[in-house]
Amino acid sequence: MNRILFRGGTIVDPVLGRVESDLVVADGHVVDVGAGLDGDEAVDCTGKYVTPGLIDAHVHLAYTHVDLWKHIHTPLSYNFYLAIGNMARTLGTGITTVRDAGGADLGMKEAVEDGLVLGPRMQISLAMISQTGGHGDGWNLSGIPVRLATPYPGRPSGIADGPDEMRRKVRELVRAGADVIKVATSGGVLSPRDEPTHAHFRPEELNVLVTEAAAAGLWVMAHAQAADGIKNAVRAGIRSIEHGIYLDDEAIGLMLEHGTYLVPTLVAPTGVEKAVAAGAPMSEAAIRKAGEVIEVHRESFRRAVDAGVNIAMGTDSAVTPHGENLDELSLMVADGQTPEQAFESATLGGARLMGLDHELGSLEPGKIADLVISRSDPLDFATLKGGIEQVWKAGLLVVGG
Ligand SMILES: [Zn+2]
Repeated sequence: MNRILFRGGTIVDPVLGRVESDLVVADGHVVDVGAGLDGDEAVDCTGKYVTPGLIDAHVHLAYTHVDLWKHIHTPLSYNFYLAIGNMARTLGTGITTVRDAGGADLGMKEAVEDGLVLGPRMQISLAMISQTGGHGDGWNLSGIPVRLATPYPGRPSGIADGPDEMRRKVRELVRAGADVIKVATSGGVLSPRDEPTHAHFRPEELNVLVTEAAAAGLWVMAHAQAADGIKNAVRAGIRSIEHGIYLDDEAIGLMLEHGTYLVPTLVAPTGVEKAVAAGAPMSEAAIRKAGEVIEVHRESFRRAVDAGVNIAMGTDSAVTPHGENLDELSLMVADGQTPEQAFESATLGGARLMGLDHELGSLEPGKIADLVISRSDPLDFATLKGGIEQVWKAGLLVVGG
């Protein structure tokens, strides 16, 4: 068995801490961490840092931008070729595992697993379940539907109303390969006729959703911005709140009680504003809502951190461009996490959320060898991306060969 020795680096890890140490990888796994180790080949890490591969718990790898006008004029399959670049840019930031919050399908996932294209390992949700008129409904005032997630056999429409349709929808998504079920329990920013402050779906619909997902062994993630939408999701047993913009004390208390994760995606509303500034056509409603939520969002995140809510890093890329994911870590620190906490949210926190912490999220022997080698200190998030020299995924060099 070929042993690859990563020699003389400083390991920065949520479990092992900060320690100067060798590390040996064999058969895709970390097999040894310590001083004076040997191997069949060596990677000199002297003066460099070795960290676990990062985890982004909320991305959209199949989307490349939020310019709906451009999207209308792009052939459907062209988006999959764009996704190849999105996946490469994601790996280039040291992210080796993602939870795709809508868009990526089983073909993309299997193409990565089979080595046809390079990309992060992924859990996929396919399409977001949404009520009529909800965040995933592509209806517009003209009556012309436009949505990023154009339905096709491998990616069913996410629209459902009522417990019976909800049950069928979950089963359809499971059939098409979903690893996690995504639902919108409130309105959102980019959709034209719903409000982030309104709860979507009633408890009886969410209870069926969670029961059906659990029957298939799956967890549920909820796009939830309104306080009521967050509370309904948590009470129904949904595992993670995505965005969580209007968190009040009761919502935070419920999340603590249920062990629910928050995936804040603080960069997402700033991405809408930047896209508009760069000339992307966007509805008046989307621009207004993005502006309204930014400060509330940051304040909510700060209170969740203070209260000790479980947090995993997510970025909502393509709302901001793929490859700029690490900007989220700087915002998480600006809004209340220590660099160590933010780093844990992007490693072990994400792994726990996804049920992968037995094999990912840190570098203890036995775990899968996803490694990032960087010149700059990994806890200095502003410079980390520029300092990344190599990314390894399951013991294979995927960036910086
Ligand atoms: Zn999203």
